[in-house]
Amino acid sequence: MGLTTAYRLSKQGHQVTVFESAPQLGGLATHHDYGPFVWDRFYHVILPSDQHLIGLLREIGLGEQLRWQKTLTGFYANRKYYSVSNTIEFLRFPALNLLDKVRLAFTLLYGSRINNWRKLEQIPVEDWLVRLSGRSTYEKFWEPLLRAKLGEYYQRVSAVFIWSYIKRLFSARDSSLSKEQLGYVQGGYKTVFERLATLIHQANGNIRTGVTVEYIGPAPNGGLLIEHSGTKEHFDKVFFTGPVNILQRVAARELFHLSKQDNPIDYLGVICMVLITRKPLVPFYIVNIADQQIPFTGVIGMSNIVALEETAGFHITYLPKYIPSDDPLLQQPNEEIKRQFASGIRSMFPDLKEEDVLSVHINRATKVQPMQVLNYSQIVPQVTAANKDFFVLNTSQFLRDNSNNNAVVRHVTEFFEHGFL
Ligand SMILES: Cc1cc2nc3c(=O)[nH]c(=O)nc-3n(C[C@H](O)[C@H](O)[C@H](O)COP(=O)(O)OP(=O)(O)OC[C@H]3O[C@@H](n4cnc5c(N)ncnc54)[C@H](O)[C@@H]3O)c2cc1C
Repeated sequence: MGLTTAYRLSKQGHQVTVFESAPQLGGLATHHDYGPFVWDRFYHVILPSDQHLIGLLREIGLGEQLRWQKTLTGFYANRKYYSVSNTIEFLRFPALNLLDKVRLAFTLLYGSRINNWRKLEQIPVEDWLVRLSGRSTYEKFWEPLLRAKLGEYYQRVSAVFIWSYIKRLFSARDSSLSKEQLGYVQGGYKTVFERLATLIHQANGNIRTGVTVEYIGPAPNGGLLIEHSGTKEHFDKVFFTGPVNILQRVAARELFHLSKQDNPIDYLGVICMVLITRKPLVPFYIVNIADQQIPFTGVIGMSNIVALEETAGFHITYLPKYIPSDDPLLQQPNEEIKRQFASGIRSMFPDLKEEDVLSVHINRATKVQPMQVLNYSQIVPQVTAANKDFFVLNTSQFLRDNSNNNAVVRHVTEFFEHGFL
């Protein structure tokens, strides 16, 4: 959000300075050094329907580096893997009977055609899915999928979450329930952030990594002051693109108005084990797990999309576990997380031998996305800048989208279309 905003401002002729507290750019979409190669810290894919994101990538000259791959979707139930990647496999999927399947197909079609999401906000996701798909399909198909995306949090979200997922995913398929096409940029998101940084530098902008903004306040003679590393700097305008709790911590009270402060936003956190192996673990991009004994919430076979030459011939598999952002597990040492995940790894990949594993990494993030609970658009605190030189853009302002980079780019584009300067 910050780099896209900075790039757009640079293009308009403004001289920008970007502050990033982490040592490297990219936030949640940043990269990680896995040893023989560098790839995204968390798994990221681009959908063919991500038109705003793809538009930006083309605009910054990365259109030619987009790669697309047909992928498979799997289900893990009763200690077996099932591919549900095309109509025939789906019709054969033994966990669902024919009626379940018809109801599931109806839910996907119906959901993809809904445009008025506001009504869905009042309905818990489980109620909506059970009503459309039936209890049996819900338990065997939707619940594992919700767990894979949200962990135990899934019971608290509204139907908007799954509607927006269906909408986004439906257009990733050639036709309903045929094979999915998913994409990435060669070199991963590192390539994207490096290109944005280059363009910002070319427009005389500055990028300061490893610098935490500690305070933003009004300057006596107009504009704003930013305080960091014991110094103060003056700027004409400031765009804040971090989460709301950090806004509350660093920005002077008179700069913004936050409605309904008694309703803090709950964020979802994630612990993500990354296995670098000499052989593939699954043939699927994503495996939804219908087995509550497994301690992680999904399996992401990234190398089924990303060409092996990107990852020095090794296979990269992510094992995410989504949890509330205040879950104590997020603070546990890596060894404890490895210990907890070990039984699931043994059950799901019984043929995996120690010598097949090059390395194991634990990545974590406390603020992955705001939880779209019931009536989210009415209870989410509205941030309004109360100073003509101060602007706030962040993912808590997404009312109908799950957090993803297409929604990020669209949010920035719409902000500029509404003519801020
Ligand atoms: C496991 C996982 C999988 C995902 N998969 C996908 C996917 O497949 N496709 C997709 O499109 N999206 C995906 N996403 C979502 C995507 O990463 C986010 O939508 C995107 O990163 C949000 O960008 P942002 O700029 O809003 O927030 P962030 O990435 O959180 O950036 C906020 C930045 O602000 C910085 N910051 C905070 N406070 C300060 C301060 N005081 N001073 C200076 N800097 C500060 C932070 O360090 C951070 O870099 C995924 C995310 C995760 C975690």
